[in-house]
Amino acid sequence: MSVSLRGVEKAFAARSAAPIPVLHGIDLEVPDGEMIVIVGPSGSGKTTLLRCIAGLEELDRGSVLVGGRDVTHDDPGERDIAMVFQELALYPHLTVRANIAFGLKARKSPPAEVAVAVADVARTLELEPLLGRLPSELSGGERQRVALARAIVRDPTAFLLDEPLSNLDPALRTRARVEIRTLQRDLGRTAIYVTHDQVEAMTLGDRIAVLRNGRVEQVGAPLELYDHPASAFVGRFLGTPPMSILSSEVLTPDRRKAAAFGIRPERVRLADADGDVKATVEVVEHIGSSTVVHLRTSHGELLARTPGRDVPQPGETVMVSFADRDIRFFESEDGRAVTP
Ligand code: ATP
Repeated sequence: MSVSLRGVEKAFAARSAAPIPVLHGIDLEVPDGEMIVIVGPSGSGKTTLLRCIAGLEELDRGSVLVGGRDVTHDDPGERDIAMVFQELALYPHLTVRANIAFGLKARKSPPAEVAVAVADVARTLELEPLLGRLPSELSGGERQRVALARAIVRDPTAFLLDEPLSNLDPALRTRARVEIRTLQRDLGRTAIYVTHDQVEAMTLGDRIAVLRNGRVEQVGAPLELYDHPASAFVGRFLGTPPMSILSSEVLTPDRRKAAAFGIRPERVRLADADGDVKATVEVVEHIGSSTVVHLRTSHGELLARTPGRDVPQPGETVMVSFADRDIRFFESEDGRAVTP
């Protein structure tokens, strides 16, 4: 089912001062079956937004609709939404089987139905050999899968996932990411996934919503945001290494004024004799698959990423260049994009 947020505002009471606003009028439409990733720096309001959708926080203003129905004043249990938290609260004294079945039993589903549902989800998530174990006898990744199973078995209309992979090591995280994506597509359920990991955002989301200081900075398909960030902030936030933003009075192709421009590291050409900008190499990082060169220019720091390993060394001066089509223009170093 679709999830709609209309003008959602939330402030938290502060002990001695006025309430501190955390969400400033969030509008977001998540169509049925979509996986949207909410991404943003620490404190930008991601978890608060999820909690508002789940009904765990009361809104100060605005509304939440699920499948077109206004659930703003419904209790969490009435919303038919499953939430998987970063801290996986599995019941320590219950087996994996009992943990997964817990919600269904609480709903008084017939035992035969519970058994079938648990068996189904255990097969999907490859948990069958673990059904008799306690959470303390599982690895972090296995616990993660149990928490997901517990959410899936309820067959909710939508999933809310709050940094569900943050406790996993990188290899497991990559695998779990693919599993979650495949599962969500197979189930065809709407999912709202919170992370501060931009790689997760780029790879998991049908769309990404970038949150900054309680406001939606930009919403769109991952590559749309990567190629056409609506602000210097989004340009820096998505991409590893990030877009370099250089300060310079420049004219856009349609002759509008911009005070800064951005360029992706993989679009910077190094050691080009007829280059546009003079730069000094400061640091060279060999990542393995590519090399990242940190350059100092009179317009600010510039990163270049190249597949080769034979690159200029720290202290050397090089000329760099970029194609006009790869340059993005901004009102300032921290400003909105000047289109096109
Ligand atoms: P992170 O990535 O660190 O989890 P986040 O984007 O999820 O951050 P939130 O947890 O939503 O951010 O917090 C947003 C802001 O609201 C923060 O400044 C936080 O300190 C504040 N906040 C969150 N919960 C409460 C609360 N119960 N009382 C007061 N302030 C709160």
